[in-house]
Amino acid sequence: MSNQELDALRGQLDELNRELLELICKRGAITQEIAIVKQTQGIPKYDPVREKQMLDVLAAANIGPFDEATIRHLFKQIFKASLDLQQKDHKKHLLVSRKRQTDDTVVRSKNVAIGGGAHIMVAGPCSIESYEQVRTVAAALKASGVHVIRGGAFKPRTSPYDFQGLGVEGLKILKEVADEFGLVTISEIVNPAHMELAEQYIDVIQIGARNMQNFELLKAAGEAKIPVLLKRGIAATMEEFLMAAEYVVSRGNTQVMLIERGIRTYEKWTRNTLDISAVPILKQESHLPVLVDVSHSTGRKDIVLPCAKAALAAGADGIMIEVHPDPPTALSDADQQLTIPQFDQFFSQLKQSGLFNQK
Ligand code: PEP
Ligand code: MN
Repeated sequence: MSNQELDALRGQLDELNRELLELICKRGAITQEIAIVKQTQGIPKYDPVREKQMLDVLAAANIGPFDEATIRHLFKQIFKASLDLQQKDHKKHLLVSRKRQTDDTVVRSKNVAIGGGAHIMVAGPCSIESYEQVRTVAAALKASGVHVIRGGAFKPRTSPYDFQGLGVEGLKILKEVADEFGLVTISEIVNPAHMELAEQYIDVIQIGARNMQNFELLKAAGEAKIPVLLKRGIAATMEEFLMAAEYVVSRGNTQVMLIERGIRTYEKWTRNTLDISAVPILKQESHLPVLVDVSHSTGRKDIVLPCAKAALAAGADGIMIEVHPDPPTALSDADQQLTIPQFDQFFSQLKQSGLFNQK
């Protein structure tokens, strides 16, 4: 073959490369359009059935010289690149992301606003144990200027033999007491079928650390008509945490708050390790309010004040803390719950520090 012939063939290849490139780019642009349609319809990006059909059609139309396996492999690479493109675009536009919404989300319930400036104190017992117990705490919280009470009725306990919570009876107690004192209530829901129950009895649905990646629960919370407080999973990365929040927001419920509650490390002197760095990172990455639970993160009472100060200094929008009228008799988390006088001292010292900015 003369050099001239070789150059001519290479010229044809260069031209085909350009055409292939143009076609691949055109294909990529179409897959991006498909991604937008799928996103709005809530359809998954990856469709293995459709991919198999496309590969079968291509294999059947193959006239050589490449064998079938090579054709399948080549096109599989093109499909994979298109899928990566769809997912990258999607990530850039996460609904919970600051890139998507620069203004802080303000979560509202009754007359309480969380996020966007003022700080919030969420306090109350670990578990709802009785009407008297909740009423005693609620009266004290009201007198101290706290607007939001917490209390678990469905308790996700490590041992099946431990107190599991009063269930619906507990939610009824919380509502009755909160109505009397005009408080906003937060309580954990563990069952996707309980969202209507939640709307009936509580103001904010808590999704606990153990359920942060219970995707059916997240989807159900996304359809609820009341705000959601999402706890960081015991071993969740911040990306996983934000993705969990995205599940809720993408289903239509934009009233979501994040709460750092400590992650599991090798440390034994605290129940979990309070990840303060999560606060500024979550505030940077997301427009959702960020709270810090100083009780479950530390598991002890003696360091809740400095930890709460650190959380506020790092940019948290609020603090959660457990308070019980008689902690030694508590049916759950007895070691970490503050007595009412201890809480009053904690709250007044936090306010005195100048870090807690209350409306
Ligand atoms: C709680 O707040 O009642 C609770 C069980 O916390 P966590 O899910 O963070 O362990
Ligand atoms: Mn608890």
